Amino acid sequence: MSRESETSRQVRAGCTVCHGTAAHWLGRNAAGVAARHHDATGHCTWAEQSLRTVYGADSAPPHPDLFAEATA
Ligand SMILES: [Zn+2]
Repeated sequence: MSRESETSRQVRAGCTVCHGTAAHWLGRNAAGVAARHHDATGHCTWAEQSLRTVYGADSAPPHPDLFAEATA
């Protein structure tokens, strides 16, 4: 049996010294940039990564009644 699936990865990273708690680097290279920033400066850096896997195609509209008021 085969099933359709799609996995996407989100990465956020930052430097606690330069950016406080805010994420400053986004995208697939963010963790590497945070690591190199730590190597270069000695600053404490961080990276958060999340994986999202969707099985099957989502054919239904996510919010079918979102604009119902606009068409009335
Ligand atoms: Zn820094």
